[in-house]
Amino acid sequence: MAVQHDHLAALKAALDPGDWSDDADLIAPHLVDWRNRYHGRTALFLQPDSTEKVAHILRWANRHEVALIVQGGNSGLVGGGIPDQSGSQVLLSLKRLNSIRDAGSDGHVIIAEAGVTLAAVQQAAAEQDRLFPLSLASEGSATIGGLVSTNAGGVHVLRYGTMRSLILGVEAVLPTGEIVHGLGRLHKDNTGYDLKSLLCGAEGTLGVITAASLRLYPAIKSRMVAMCALPTMAAAMALLARLDAESGERLMAFELIPRFGLDLVCRHLPDCRDPFTKPHDWYILAEWASSARDEPLGPLAERLLAGALEGGLIHDAVLAASEGQATDLWRLRHHLSEAQKAEGASIKHDISLPQAHIPEFIEACSHQLAALVPGIRPCIFGHLGDGNLHFNLSQPKGADPQNFLDRWDEISTLVHQMTIKAGGSISAEHGIGQMKAGLLAAVKDRASLQAMAAIKAALDPKGILNPGRILKPAS
Ligand SMILES: Cc1cc2nc3c(=O)[nH]c(=O)nc-3n(C[C@H](O)[C@H](O)[C@H](O)COP(=O)(O)OP(=O)(O)OC[C@H]3O[C@@H](n4cnc5c(N)ncnc54)[C@H](O)[C@@H]3O)c2cc1C
Repeated sequence: MAVQHDHLAALKAALDPGDWSDDADLIAPHLVDWRNRYHGRTALFLQPDSTEKVAHILRWANRHEVALIVQGGNSGLVGGGIPDQSGSQVLLSLKRLNSIRDAGSDGHVIIAEAGVTLAAVQQAAAEQDRLFPLSLASEGSATIGGLVSTNAGGVHVLRYGTMRSLILGVEAVLPTGEIVHGLGRLHKDNTGYDLKSLLCGAEGTLGVITAASLRLYPAIKSRMVAMCALPTMAAAMALLARLDAESGERLMAFELIPRFGLDLVCRHLPDCRDPFTKPHDWYILAEWASSARDEPLGPLAERLLAGALEGGLIHDAVLAASEGQATDLWRLRHHLSEAQKAEGASIKHDISLPQAHIPEFIEACSHQLAALVPGIRPCIFGHLGDGNLHFNLSQPKGADPQNFLDRWDEISTLVHQMTIKAGGSISAEHGIGQMKAGLLAAVKDRASLQAMAAIKAALDPKGILNPGRILKPAS
């Protein structure tokens, strides 16, 4: 799809001057993704500040068959929000649609526009003594529109589910420019197809989210964070089963950190230190939290971890004695991606697996990778409580980074084939974007792919919105 100069001029004239830009310096950060893997060009950068303007832009794009790429905080990890190299795609940023329309005054729902960051929503909820439980390392930049569109997960899925279970409604603009006024506040609403669930996880291929109603929970009144050192992955799975069974709904997070990952964080980030005196193969960061007033969680955590120590499931454990120590332990987990970046090139996979298969999978896959690329350094971490592994691979020490990255397809094929064989998913929470569109076509069953293509064709008949994301165009 090429875009004609006079069509662009007409659009600019219809918008306010602040709604678009062709300033190369301003646009540049929007044309490269967080991992520096995707670089694009754009015919025009749009940043409207109202739903009506978004609708106008979509009507214009639909009429003139102009491809639009939607972007929020640009923290996505699969290239979904970066235009291609053709220079003919128009980049639509939702960052200026950033009002909180209802800050949770009823204690149940926050209504936030697409460009509001997750951190701002969490803060607004806290000000009402309530909790918006979604939490992830990119929360300072990830926006509500992006989080809904990718059905984001994060560290509290174990207790609260993914974004799909945290939204009560969405306002969205369909590719034809019609506005879906769906900012419901209802927990129960069985009135036909659930459009919010369809748009959630659609990665901007079916509509542009302009606002969402977000479900609030009771604020957390006490929490306990512990880091445990474990001998094996089998022990980690047994620990999960035990904590899950005996903590009730208080278990909030169960995150895996490998020895290599902890080394990287301690090496590359200031003020990070190994909380243990001896090295161990695996670590679990566990968090218990309660919204009940005066419920001490220390005795529960101590009892459960003492039992695990006695039973040989863990070798050692550190319990945070203060909020400051809890934050320090979480920093070790949250900075893993950053530390891996500082260590050189890495090839990353966001997979999920049936829990029973995880130890065997990690062992077999690491073994095969070592045979394929001698010296490869797996840094396998993630949301173990959800069966979600960030199966990341750092380049061999001293190797040429580009030579390693050139083997991306070969290495990823191995990891993904083994994932599918184990009954897992090639994308647990980051989505498909540009990165895995080809792969999806190869692994998803035919009927599902056909149904997805039919939905796309029905809502976006001219294929203008986020083309090439999730579904590869028919060749
Ligand atoms: C350090 C780090 C840690 C992360 N941890 C997690 C994690 O734990 N769990 C997790 O799930 N993700 C994680 N992510 C990935 C990322 O933060 C999420 O995918 C997030 O939802 C992206 O939000 P965004 O606003 O940055 O969206 P973008 O990156 O701007 O866009 C992501 C996708 O959504 C589409 N999109 C954006 N806004 C809209 C909109 N308003 N309407 C329609 N489509 C839209 C884009 O076209 C693109 O396809 C992490 C990323 C980083 C960098």
